[in-house]
Amino acid sequence: MIKLTAQRQAILDMINASDRHWDADELARSLSDNGQPIGIATVYRGLATLEAAGLIESIQLADKKRYERADKAHHDHMICTVCGDIEEFAHAKIESLQLSVAAEKGFTVTGHQLVMFGLCERCSQGEQK
Ligand SMILES: [Zn+2]
Ligand SMILES: [Zn+2]
Repeated sequence: MIKLTAQRQAILDMINASDRHWDADELARSLSDNGQPIGIATVYRGLATLEAAGLIESIQLADKKRYERADKAHHDHMICTVCGDIEEFAHAKIESLQLSVAAEKGFTVTGHQLVMFGLCERCSQGEQK
């Protein structure tokens, strides 16, 4: 176990308390609302440290990373480009196909991320949130 500063512990606790996929700005706001104001630069550094220690996981998006609890079962993500909604999914056939493709290339998989971008059901039906 790595020793966490109080600030890093607060960031970790906030992430572990929900199923959300946080970006750094949202976390900083939420910590501040919670009476634990932490500067944005410290939040970024804390997130990097926590991720390197395997305590949280991230999804790399075009412009930023989003972070989530590390104790969920493996899953991939669908991200709505209109409302930002993030849907989690896992599909055994996709998982095994990825391993087959890698094996054909002699590639040893140590992990993967699959992110699908598009419109969630609500947005594709043109409904307002
Ligand atoms: Zn949407
Ligand atoms: Zn997720």
